[in-house]
Amino acid sequence: MTCVFCKIIKREVQSDIVYENDYVVVFKDINPQAPIHLLVVPKKHIDSIASEGSEGTASELIKVAKKIAQNEHIPGYKLLFCVGKEGGQTVNHLHLHLLAGERMRKKEVLERM
Ligand code: 5GP
Ligand code: ZN
Repeated sequence: MTCVFCKIIKREVQSDIVYENDYVVVFKDINPQAPIHLLVVPKKHIDSIASEGSEGTASELIKVAKKIAQNEHIPGYKLLFCVGKEGGQTVNHLHLHLLAGERMRKKEVLERM
């Protein structure tokens, strides 16, 4: 298995894990594009949102992201799925970006991604 997120989940690659349950792991992005930049990742390998049947997993990721924002008292945030190479996806393991910590305009965020 060459997928870096699968390796992070199996603790074969080091990362800053901030939350974990039976299905989802959340860790800090290695190259943060905002003061808070977390990746919400399913433990099961799914390529992307474009994969058939990914909707249920995606909704779990959103649920976890909301919970973290609530628990951490993050007043506002952005959630982003990148889909496919043309959509800026660089890791082919479904993940939800949680970006927060400054008043980011959409254009600025997208330019950084
Ligand atoms: P994508 O570009 O696919 O939307 O998002 C992949 C994200 O994973 C990028 O923001 C990138 O910085 C992050 N990333 C890539 N490799 C690693 C890694 O080994 N550890 C961590 N913590 N983040 C990574
Ligand atoms: Zn994977």
